[in-house]
Amino acid sequence: MNNQIPTSINLPKPYLLAFEWPDGFRAVVTLQAFRDECPCAVCRGENIMGTTYVLPGMKMFKPGMYELNGINSVGNYAIEVGWKDGHNTGIYSWDILRAIAEKHKLNDDQLAELAKKEQAEG
Ligand SMILES: [Zn+2]
Repeated sequence: MNNQIPTSINLPKPYLLAFEWPDGFRAVVTLQAFRDECPCAVCRGENIMGTTYVLPGMKMFKPGMYELNGINSVGNYAIEVGWKDGHNTGIYSWDILRAIAEKHKLNDDQLAELAKKEQAEG
Protein backbone atom coordinates (compact mmCIF):
# COMPACT_ATOMS: atom_id res chain seq x y z
CA MET A 1 0.00 0.00 0.00
CA ASN A 2 1.34 3.35 -1.09
CA ASN A 3 -0.55 6.49 -0.13
CA GLN A 4 1.78 9.01 -1.68
CA ILE A 5 0.06 11.73 -3.70
CA PRO A 6 1.17 11.70 -7.34
CA THR A 7 3.19 14.76 -8.33
CA SER A 8 1.61 14.76 -11.77
CA ILE A 9 -1.25 13.20 -13.69
CA ASN A 10 -1.63 13.97 -17.36
CA LEU A 11 -2.98 12.78 -20.65
CA PRO A 12 -0.15 12.46 -23.17
CA LYS A 13 -2.55 10.89 -25.69
CA PRO A 14 -6.34 10.72 -25.75
CA TYR A 15 -6.05 7.06 -24.77
CA LEU A 16 -3.17 7.23 -22.27
CA LEU A 17 -2.76 8.46 -18.72
CA ALA A 18 0.66 9.24 -17.27
CA PHE A 19 1.44 9.39 -13.57
CA GLU A 20 4.46 10.40 -11.59
CA TRP A 21 5.12 9.97 -7.87
CA PRO A 22 7.52 11.73 -5.51
CA ASP A 23 9.52 8.50 -5.07
CA GLY A 24 10.38 8.64 -8.78
CA PHE A 25 7.96 5.97 -9.94
CA ARG A 26 6.38 6.82 -13.29
CA ALA A 27 3.80 4.89 -15.21
CA VAL A 28 1.77 5.23 -18.39
CA VAL A 29 -1.42 3.18 -18.54
CA THR A 30 -4.19 2.95 -21.12
CA LEU A 31 -7.50 4.59 -20.30
CA GLN A 32 -9.07 1.24 -21.03
CA ALA A 33 -7.09 -0.47 -18.25
CA PHE A 34 -7.82 2.48 -15.97
CA ARG A 35 -11.57 2.28 -16.60
CA ASP A 36 -11.62 -1.50 -16.29
CA GLU A 37 -10.12 -1.07 -12.81
CA CYS A 38 -12.79 1.46 -11.78
CA PRO A 39 -13.13 0.86 -8.05
CA CYS A 40 -16.77 1.91 -7.69
CA ALA A 41 -19.40 -0.47 -6.37
CA VAL A 42 -21.18 -0.69 -9.72
CA CYS A 43 -18.04 -1.79 -11.57
CA ARG A 44 -16.69 -4.01 -8.83
CA GLY A 45 -20.08 -5.53 -8.02
CA GLU A 46 -21.51 -5.25 -4.54
CA ASN A 47 -19.77 -7.51 -2.08
CA ILE A 48 -22.44 -9.07 0.11
CA MET A 49 -21.47 -11.66 2.69
CA GLY A 50 -18.28 -12.46 0.81
CA THR A 51 -20.02 -13.00 -2.53
CA THR A 52 -19.54 -10.52 -5.30
CA TYR A 53 -22.69 -9.79 -7.26
CA VAL A 54 -22.04 -8.26 -10.63
CA LEU A 55 -24.90 -6.58 -12.43
CA PRO A 56 -25.83 -8.38 -15.65
CA GLY A 57 -24.55 -6.75 -18.82
CA MET A 58 -22.33 -4.21 -17.09
CA LYS A 59 -19.21 -5.36 -18.93
CA MET A 60 -20.77 -4.46 -22.27
CA PHE A 61 -18.95 -1.82 -24.22
CA LYS A 62 -20.57 1.60 -24.24
CA PRO A 63 -19.50 4.42 -26.58
CA GLY A 64 -17.22 6.79 -24.70
CA MET A 65 -16.54 4.43 -21.83
CA TYR A 66 -12.80 4.59 -22.45
CA GLU A 67 -12.75 8.35 -23.09
CA LEU A 68 -12.00 10.70 -20.27
CA ASN A 69 -14.44 13.47 -19.48
CA GLY A 70 -12.53 14.92 -16.57
CA ILE A 71 -10.64 14.31 -13.34
CA ASN A 72 -11.41 16.14 -10.11
CA SER A 73 -9.58 15.90 -6.85
CA VAL A 74 -11.54 14.68 -3.85
CA GLY A 75 -10.21 16.19 -0.63
CA ASN A 76 -6.56 15.27 -0.65
CA TYR A 77 -7.01 11.53 -0.68
CA ALA A 78 -8.35 10.63 -4.12
CA ILE A 79 -9.44 11.65 -7.59
CA GLU A 80 -12.90 11.32 -9.05
CA VAL A 81 -12.90 10.28 -12.68
CA GLY A 82 -15.65 11.06 -15.18
CA TRP A 83 -16.07 9.20 -18.48
CA LYS A 84 -17.83 10.17 -21.68
CA ASP A 85 -20.42 7.43 -21.29
CA GLY A 86 -21.64 9.36 -18.24
CA HIS A 87 -20.03 7.11 -15.61
CA ASN A 88 -18.59 9.24 -12.82
CA THR A 89 -18.85 7.31 -9.58
CA GLY A 90 -15.29 6.01 -9.61
CA ILE A 91 -13.21 7.42 -6.77
CA TYR A 92 -9.57 6.39 -7.10
CA SER A 93 -7.73 6.80 -3.82
CA TRP A 94 -3.95 7.25 -3.96
CA ASP A 95 -3.19 3.67 -2.99
CA ILE A 96 -5.60 2.32 -5.62
CA LEU A 97 -4.10 4.63 -8.24
CA ARG A 98 -0.62 3.42 -7.43
CA ALA A 99 -1.70 -0.24 -7.49
CA ILE A 100 -3.32 0.22 -10.92
CA ALA A 101 -0.23 2.02 -12.23
CA GLU A 102 2.05 -0.77 -11.01
CA LYS A 103 -0.20 -3.48 -12.44
CA HIS A 104 -0.87 -1.91 -15.85
CA LYS A 105 2.30 0.09 -16.50
CA LEU A 106 3.15 -0.05 -20.20
CA ASN A 107 6.71 -0.77 -21.26
CA ASP A 108 8.45 0.98 -24.17
CA ASP A 109 7.55 -1.81 -26.61
CA GLN A 110 3.87 -1.60 -25.73
CA LEU A 111 3.93 2.19 -26.08
CA ALA A 112 5.60 1.93 -29.48
CA GLU A 113 3.00 -0.62 -30.52
CA LEU A 114 0.15 1.68 -29.50
CA ALA A 115 1.72 4.62 -31.36
CA LYS A 116 2.00 2.47 -34.49
CA LYS A 117 -1.63 1.43 -34.20
CA GLU A 118 -2.66 5.05 -33.72
CA GLN A 119 -0.90 6.04 -36.95
CA ALA A 120 -2.39 3.13 -38.87
CA GLU A 121 -5.86 4.20 -37.77
CA GLY A 122 -5.07 7.74 -38.88
ZN1 LIG B 1 -17.24 2.40 -11.86
